[in-house]
Amino acid sequence: MDLLQRFSFSGLPIRGQWIRLDQTLKSLAQYADYPDDVKGLLGEMFAAVTMVADNLKFSGAVSLQSKGDGALTRSLAECRDQHYLRGIAHVATDKAADIRSSNLADWLGNGQLALSLLPDKSTRMNPYQGLVEIDPAGLAASLEGYFQNSEQLQTRLHFASLDGTTTGLLLQRLPDAPEASEVSIAAADDDWLTLTTLAASVTTEELATLAPKQMLLRLFHEYPCELYSPRSLSFRCSCSAEKSDQTLLVLGREDLMALASEQPEIHVDCEFCGHRYVYDQAAVAKLLNHSGSALH
Ligand SMILES: [Zn+2]
Repeated sequence: MDLLQRFSFSGLPIRGQWIRLDQTLKSLAQYADYPDDVKGLLGEMFAAVTMVADNLKFSGAVSLQSKGDGALTRSLAECRDQHYLRGIAHVATDKAADIRSSNLADWLGNGQLALSLLPDKSTRMNPYQGLVEIDPAGLAASLEGYFQNSEQLQTRLHFASLDGTTTGLLLQRLPDAPEASEVSIAAADDDWLTLTTLAASVTTEELATLAPKQMLLRLFHEYPCELYSPRSLSFRCSCSAEKSDQTLLVLGREDLMALASEQPEIHVDCEFCGHRYVYDQAAVAKLLNHSGSALH
């Protein structure tokens, strides 16, 4: 089962997250045949949105999306309700042939990466989108910069993709308590330096294969950790007949009627999960009837 597990270092203002994705990436592969490096990159994006979603205090989704003029023209990874993942990548195959890495910067070319928080309507909160500056070192470094700039949180992030799984490890230095003394802040800074140095020593093999408890023990054996109950993750699309209806209605009554008269069935295919929503002429007529007053 795919899991995210939080942990903290006893007595220190430093927390962490560990995540491993396996089934989710297998499910993704059922719908699209991506090059291995792109699968790895999507795995990292999934890990990142899940880590961000894990800290949300409201229901909704977190997404990370890119567009660029490189081999990866567009990508999107989304975590909904802290459990459900879906994603997609558009790859320009002619440009992809020469790339031998899963570094976002290599795939993106000239491009942009944006992180969005999408609260559910019921929360009455506004969506938020922030641009993530692309670091040539890759997605992990780009996100470290993002957390530093947007949340003033020092963060270290490591990813390992191996044999179709992606594992992520995040460490974050939390703000000091208001009553913390200068001595204890300096001590926590020293511990942060030690812990991040130890984390950076993790090998791809260790990160990709060890269970979280083992890995924490191997890396940080002098620092007792507290592990919290894991959160399960799975691939699940949020498309629905209602959303498909809305997609068609956006065309407007006249265009939709013209389209329905030209062909026996209209198809709306979900690009994430491949589900096909089929409308025959009767279904289109019914759709227009039901939404009659909303259309001009
Ligand atoms: Zn779908």
